[in-house]
Amino acid sequence: MNEHFDLTVIGAGPGGYEAALEAARLGFHTALVEKDAIGGTCLNRGCIPTKTLIHSAECYEGIKHSARFGIQSQEPSVDMKAVQQHKAETIASLQTGIATRLKTAKVTVCQGIGSVVSDGLLVRVTAPDGTAFDLESDHILLATGSTPSIPPIPGSDLPGVMTSDELLSYDGAPFDSLLIIGGGVIGVECAGIWQALGTKVTILEALPSLIASLDRELGQSLKLSMKKKGADIHTGASVRSLAATENGIRCTYLEKGKEQTCAAQAVLIATGRRPYTEGLFSEGCAPATERGRILVNEFYETSIPGIYAIGDVTGQISLAHAATAQGLRAVRHMAGRESASAPLLIPSCVYTSPEIASVGLTLDEAKARSIVAKSHKILSSANGKSVLTLQERGFIKVVYEEDSHLILGAQLLCARATDMVSEFAVAIRQGLTMEDMADVIRPHPSFSEMITEAARL
Ligand code: NAD
Repeated sequence: MNEHFDLTVIGAGPGGYEAALEAARLGFHTALVEKDAIGGTCLNRGCIPTKTLIHSAECYEGIKHSARFGIQSQEPSVDMKAVQQHKAETIASLQTGIATRLKTAKVTVCQGIGSVVSDGLLVRVTAPDGTAFDLESDHILLATGSTPSIPPIPGSDLPGVMTSDELLSYDGAPFDSLLIIGGGVIGVECAGIWQALGTKVTILEALPSLIASLDRELGQSLKLSMKKKGADIHTGASVRSLAATENGIRCTYLEKGKEQTCAAQAVLIATGRRPYTEGLFSEGCAPATERGRILVNEFYETSIPGIYAIGDVTGQISLAHAATAQGLRAVRHMAGRESASAPLLIPSCVYTSPEIASVGLTLDEAKARSIVAKSHKILSSANGKSVLTLQERGFIKVVYEEDSHLILGAQLLCARATDMVSEFAVAIRQGLTMEDMADVIRPHPSFSEMITEAARL
């Protein structure tokens, strides 16, 4: 197929396929090249698999503790093969949905490895059978995502040492013990799943707090909550080496200047991800990069005119919804359409129990920008829905400008935080004040009543 396209997208994750759909909607003849399955990391090895496992773990916990709600049940057990089956069916169903949308939009989907072979905007696709064909394009969008980054820890290649790619596909009996290296988002979400399934979890995090990119209080509260449920959590602990022993894998780490050890049946390495650009450019065709990430301007155009890059491969922010927003902006720029504003306001969500979500500025960030700001925090302990469903104690904190009461940010740690955060995203985007937010009538009883309380000064 030597066909001419207005746009060729490489990578069919939520950044790439949504961009291809938007391009088709704007009248572009669009090709989408993918080497694996449609949906990218998010659908196949990331967001959706994690959330199906989290849901299974929550069902298990719910049954175990159902007597608290007056429901007697037998001691439940975990069938990891069936858990994985549910995950596989969920992924397949969503893949079908995306494939149907692409077909309806008349996007040409090409199975194979795409690489940029000339700065004349040619993409060579090497199909799974080894044959190759070229796609000539007016524009190219690189949306090839990221891959787990494994630090040079001796022993990280031992059997039983995994990245999230392998752990999320694990279908054996739940581990007795799991050591997690890295207390970022992947680390704590996986900790939550395995802790709920009855595994003794240890987290070693090099920085002083868990999920260190978010407000400090969120990491501190999460640490307390996980410790209360039996996890062993060490912050300020940097891993030195892993070694196989008769009793599993022994880990040596440095904490407060002292060498310590711990052991576990399995190890998850969750120390971040790096941009994936393997085989993406033939010689002389690569745009400017910095430590592996493709550099882009405000419209996501690279140093080569006509070639754009979005999502994890740009190393800016590794979130599916950020990649989608960036893709739409890039495509609208290619089409010369009035551009949507830059996607700056991006909510962050962590699917632990309780859930964590954050949008806009923290109080520290506001102060660092010399904004005179205050925060207002309420606890979830007076919320009817939280009390009747026996939720752990949580909070909502709203950051606002002191004079105008304009809402600047919000940090939530409570049930449904990942849904409720969107109300704050709308508020910030629309320039609402605390009084505007408090004025909205929210249903009773509901978790969202907490938003009214948090906005009422
Ligand atoms: P991360 O950067 O969030 O966390 C990695 C952590 O590992 C860091 O806190 C780092 O200090 C620590 N670390 C690194 N080397 C270490 C060592 N030798 N010993 C101990 N600790 C060490 O990365 P991640 O959790 O792997 O996630 C990757 C990306 O995927 C992130 O950008 C994340 O936002 C994204 N993600 C998002 C979600 C979500 O939105 N719910 C879920 C999963 C992943």
